[in-house]
Amino acid sequence: MPKYNINLTGTRSIIIETDGAGDGSMTAIGLREACPDCGSVDCERTCPKQASWDDAQEQEARLLYNAAVHGVESFLLALACLGAKVDTPKFTKALETALDQIAERYD
Ligand SMILES: [Zn+2]
Repeated sequence: MPKYNINLTGTRSIIIETDGAGDGSMTAIGLREACPDCGSVDCERTCPKQASWDDAQEQEARLLYNAAVHGVESFLLALACLGAKVDTPKFTKALETALDQIAERYD
């Protein structure tokens, strides 16, 4: 059962576990921005506290940023499930670059 532990700059990290048969799971820490009201990175205007959002533009920016990061996360998990060793220095560097580009564009 291959396991990858990818440490990125700051406090960001990704743990990927695959079953060797094409399936796997990922835990990404510190990559996506949490909802300021409920604290979940998965919140997409779905939390009960959304009525308190007073800056809709900021929330929209957070959702766009998170969607782009989620795409990178999904691609990385798919690569790992296909057997790619995603914790090499080159993969880590490429991941940092992709996340930096997303931050530059959406954050
Ligand atoms: Zn929320």
